[in-house]
Parts: sequence; C-alpha cells; structure tokens
Amino acid sequence: MSNLETRPAETACGGASVAEEPELLTPREVPLGGPRAMTVRRTLPHRERRMVGAWCFVDHYGPHDLTTATPMDVPPHPHTGLQTVSWLLEGEVLHRDSLGSRQMIAPGQLNLMTAGHGIAHSEETPVPERRTTQALSGVQLWVALPEASRSVPPHFEHHADLPVLASEGLRAQVVMGSVDGAASDAATYSPLVGADVTVDAGSSGRLPLEPSFEHAVLAMDGDVVVDGRRVGIGEMLYLPPGLRDVSLEAEGSARALLIGGEPFDEHIVMWWNFVGTDHDAIVAAREMWEAQDARFGTVDDYDGRWLHAPALPNSRLKARGRTRSQSR
Ligand code: MN
Repeated sequence: MSNLETRPAETACGGASVAEEPELLTPREVPLGGPRAMTVRRTLPHRERRMVGAWCFVDHYGPHDLTTATPMDVPPHPHTGLQTVSWLLEGEVLHRDSLGSRQMIAPGQLNLMTAGHGIAHSEETPVPERRTTQALSGVQLWVALPEASRSVPPHFEHHADLPVLASEGLRAQVVMGSVDGAASDAATYSPLVGADVTVDAGSSGRLPLEPSFEHAVLAMDGDVVVDGRRVGIGEMLYLPPGLRDVSLEAEGSARALLIGGEPFDEHIVMWWNFVGTDHDAIVAAREMWEAQDARFGTVDDYDGRWLHAPALPNSRLKARGRTRSQSR
C-alpha cells in the first residue's frame, strides 16, 4: 500500500524511551487517494508515538463489501529503507513489483516486501472474475530498516505456512519474529515480533512477551481487553518495555494484532513512501522516482499510470526520534 496523502506530513522516528505507561493510540482516517478512495484507519505514525520497535506505519482497513465499496487499487509507487507487511483478515490482494513478482495473498498468508535500496509495487483487488469473495479487510504495516540494512537489495517473500500457537481461548499466528519459541521464516533486520491473535468469545488468555521489547496491540475485529484496558476496533494500545506477558480478553470473538520490537534508537526521516537517513537521501529518492530511474524499476503489467511523488515541503526534512518528545 502507498501513502497517498497529497501533502504527507514529514514524519520521523528514532531515539530512546521516556514515558513508560500503557497508552491508547486512536486512529485517524486517511483516504488512500482520490475522491472515491478507500479509507484506512492509521495508528502509526501517531502524533506522540511514531514507532513501536521498528514498526513505523500501521493502516487498518475494512470490512468493505466490494459489491458497493471501492476496491483497492494502489498504482505503482516506490519504497526505500523499509519493509511492507501485507496481512488480510478477509479478501484477496494482488501484489506486483518491479522485480517481476506477482503474488495474490489470502487471509493467513504474509506478503513481505523488503524495499531496501529501492523497489516499486502495485496492490489491487483482483478483477471481479478472479475474486472468490466480495469482502475485504486487513492491515498494511511498514518496518523501518536500521542503518546497516537500509540499502539492502530489494526482495519479495510470500509466506503461506506460518506457525500457530494455540492455548485455551487464544490462538496466535506468528507473522514476523517469534512467540514462545514458534518462529516465522520471514526476513527481519532488527529484533521484532508480529502476531495475529484470535480470542474466542467470552475467553481470555495470556501471551508471553519479550521483556526487552516494547509492544502494541491493535484491535482488528471486535473489541479486545488488553491487560484490563478496553481497546476498540482500529485503536491500538502501546505497552512499554519490561512486560513478561500480556492478557487478552474478549466478550465477543476478537482478532488483534500484536506488534513489538527493540526500541528503535536511530533517528530517521519518513516522508511519503520513503524511509531515509536524512533530507538529502529523501530528495534523491524522490528525484530518481520522478525520473523513472532504474533504481526503482517498473511494474510492467499494471493497467494504469504510476503515482507521482508529492512536492517536498519548503523546509528541510529532519531526522527524528521514535516519540515526539525525543524528536527535537
Ligand atoms: Mn506500498
């Protein structure tokens, strides 16, 4: 997915930690481009908290009924310095990229694209004759790459067989990293975790956490009570480092996404679809995309035009920390 805001605010991440209380992050609604665009609920970057571990972008969308709602159609656009993580609750999305990858994903499968030095991709709902459902809901996340790996060669991975942990009342599918010894094969570049947790109606359970990580729980479907705090659909509860486990509870059945990682202590610039070290890195990436430079390549078989980058702000983009208070 792309950040299609026409005037994307400069957002940036990095730094060490201060506040260490659980904190409820409420989403803002953002159109994914155009007047008929699909709207997503964005919880990261948030005003006060830009990252959770290396996770720096969280969009949650749906449920949409495609008999009436606009399908997903994100034209070719570039990325640098990050990984895109595509995860569905319902529906199908077709990914194409400039390495020649073409991959449909279904619920329970991971599409992971490591942009590194540069890649272009499109994401769209398949044409009506190739759809198996009219439902669409899911999440799109980005993981910032640390300096040492920021320019790795781009690559794409599809994971259809991810480990599942089940205990009474709780089922967790490990998307990235590991939970309680069950590990995903997905490539990671900093210590982090991502898991889709189903809580049965009227049940509760505990999930072990890595105490050196900070975490957050996003309610994707149904309200979920996290360590005694209610999290409504689309909201995310931030959990500071130091916790050995977390309790999840639901009245109706619920799906939640657990993300976490080692607090990201680098300062980075995040602008439009790029993560970079500084202003000049972002300017260079933007210029090369607009010139359709070979750095990004082309998505050959997408039926339509590529997305232009918005204008840069007049001021220089500043590399910033992982929370607002650490950004100055
Ligand atoms: Mn994208």
